[in-house]
Amino acid sequence: MNSFGAFLRRRFGGRVQRVSLDAGFTCPNVDGAVARGGCNFCDNRSFSPSRRVRLRQVAEQLRRGIEAVRVRYDKVAGFIAYFQPATNTYAPVDQLEEVFELALTIHPEVMGLAIGTRPDCVPESVLNLIERLARQSYVSVEYGMQSIHDASLLWMNRAHRHADMVNAVDRSRGRGFEICGHVILGIPGETREMMMESAEEIGRLGFDAIKIHNLYAVQGTPLGEEVLAGKVSMMERQQYVQTVVDFLERIAPEVVVERISGEAPPNYLVAPQWCLDKASLRREIELEFARRGTRQGSLYSPPELLPADRPVPNDLTPESIRVEIERRGRLPVLKLQG
Ligand code: SF4
Repeated sequence: MNSFGAFLRRRFGGRVQRVSLDAGFTCPNVDGAVARGGCNFCDNRSFSPSRRVRLRQVAEQLRRGIEAVRVRYDKVAGFIAYFQPATNTYAPVDQLEEVFELALTIHPEVMGLAIGTRPDCVPESVLNLIERLARQSYVSVEYGMQSIHDASLLWMNRAHRHADMVNAVDRSRGRGFEICGHVILGIPGETREMMMESAEEIGRLGFDAIKIHNLYAVQGTPLGEEVLAGKVSMMERQQYVQTVVDFLERIAPEVVVERISGEAPPNYLVAPQWCLDKASLRREIELEFARRGTRQGSLYSPPELLPADRPVPNDLTPESIRVEIERRGRLPVLKLQG
């Protein structure tokens, strides 16, 4: 596998760790701009206004995050400021600029940014900003693709279609930042063939990096309740190992694999329990590659129309998202910043 750790060492010359930052963003799939309730697996109670009381200034979040990493690891060459919870492009572009610049400049060891977002929430102005930031620093935009199948996106209550993902990638390509796609394996109703179709789309669209998650359920979410009620079941460990290897065999060798399983706090996880032991799961995946004598990209075949030759489409950001971005007050973390 073209692992993330090795990629970061090649690029930055040593271990680089991400530090999660919370700027108090919400999500258009929670506040009603495109839907309410959020994705069925997402614990979006944490996007409520009460979160603001727990927020700290960006500098303080970075300081604490960096300290926590230094306790765990001896040698760290630098850090990536990771805007992780909620939809981290869901604000006016001048505020995004303020908060991203702050994260990039406030601590000398911060070497880049990672920005998690939805594919329907990257208007041109935002992509232009990220392109500009990427001229000075490493920037990764992490899109929640999850699946290419609209029926699965509907089941998850994503409130966007795969066409939105295609539109976002086709407008993001060639701008100098990394395009990363989140994929979920084990969505009820998806066959192995359907998951392999998602793998092939990664190559067609030209993602630079991927994060693969098994579907997992946490407490307090619609999915968690369905699992507890016995209405939905999660993929078995062995099936997941086989499916991840099948998936990665279809991913181009140069695509960086940033994650191969999901992660949730143990006291919060409903199922499956096997994803808590990430290290042994990773070993099993590597053993399965060895047993098959294959590797990432063994079954990859480049698409007929190369990603670089795909036409750049018009911006399909929904009007309701644009309106809500303009209506909203200042980002909570910027209010704290004073
Ligand atoms: S789009 Fe992301 S932040 Fe919004 S509800 Fe879904 S998982 Fe949560």
